[in-house]
Amino acid sequence: MTTHFDCIIIGTGPAGISAALYTLRAGLTTALFDTGESGLCKAERIDNYYGFPGGISGAALLAAGREQAAALGAHLFAEEVVRIEGIDGIRVHTVDRLCTASALLLATGARRQSAPVPGLRELEGKGVSACAICDGFFHRGKPVAVLGSGAFAAAEARELVPLASEVTVLTNGETPTADFGGLPLLTAPLARVEGEERLTGVLLEDGTRRALSGLFLAVGKASAVSLALPAGILTGPDGITVDRQMRTNLPGVFAAGDCTGGLLQIAKAAGEGAVAGTEMVTWVRKKA
Ligand SMILES: Cc1cc2nc3c(=O)[nH]c(=O)nc-3n(C[C@H](O)[C@H](O)[C@H](O)COP(=O)(O)OP(=O)(O)OC[C@H]3O[C@@H](n4cnc5c(N)ncnc54)[C@H](O)[C@@H]3O)c2cc1C
Repeated sequence: MTTHFDCIIIGTGPAGISAALYTLRAGLTTALFDTGESGLCKAERIDNYYGFPGGISGAALLAAGREQAAALGAHLFAEEVVRIEGIDGIRVHTVDRLCTASALLLATGARRQSAPVPGLRELEGKGVSACAICDGFFHRGKPVAVLGSGAFAAAEARELVPLASEVTVLTNGETPTADFGGLPLLTAPLARVEGEERLTGVLLEDGTRRALSGLFLAVGKASAVSLALPAGILTGPDGITVDRQMRTNLPGVFAAGDCTGGLLQIAKAAGEGAVAGTEMVTWVRKKA
């Protein structure tokens, strides 16, 4: 079943919650998704944010923000978003749910996980890719692998199955936590990614070698950039590209906080969230 909201916000950190305070108080139905991982979870004591003379822990600030949004009627979903679509209507996919919205905000923080495997970085863009929908086409009829072990890796693998001759899942020592639909799973840690000018394959620590045309990074949860790229949202070296109204290149799709780069601080995330929230209200009202 598909549920429609006026606004969907991915992230319940300072950027996502600040935006929600504006959309909710404007009377717009607002769904917020989060994975429970914010940059703030690890911040023991915050001393440089307005209004807390004795400091506050990151966890306490996060909990207070979520409580504030919940009290205003936010629909809170503790679910990882694995795919978004923003052309021809906004759709947000988790493993179990599809939602549509009139406006979407990416407030997913800056985290973009990779793996410290020798050779991996050097071959990015030369067979190593961060986007199955963008680059899967180049490996039609050839063997590819997905590096990851969770729901995001499973979503990337599903995109590749109709294209590649074989899709192998490399969990790099992690226990798989998603349904990979019977695809071959290699769980040994990676020893190195091989290739000179281009990727040729991978060697695992147990001695297994796999020849590969493409290797798709999907470690951990879907990051802002890995959600943005397949949806056609422009990104730069710092994160998602936005204008001063926090608009991306797609109509009705906004981004705020650490995922837009620049100063990675709560004050900047909250400020961008507030701008995005007010712009989302204007956008939704114009569409109504
Ligand atoms: C150890 C540490 C200490 C810090 N100390 C300070 C400090 O003292 N002062 C300061 O100003 N800043 C500090 N920061 C920086 C601060 O935490 C960030 O700038 C701020 O949290 C950014 O807010 P955000 O809303 O953009 O992203 P985040 O707070 O990172 O929130 C991201 C949200 O997106 C959600 N999310 C991500 N991906 C998905 C997905 N695929 N599906 C669903 N949900 C998703 C997450 O669950 C989370 O809710 C610190 C950071 C760290 C790591």
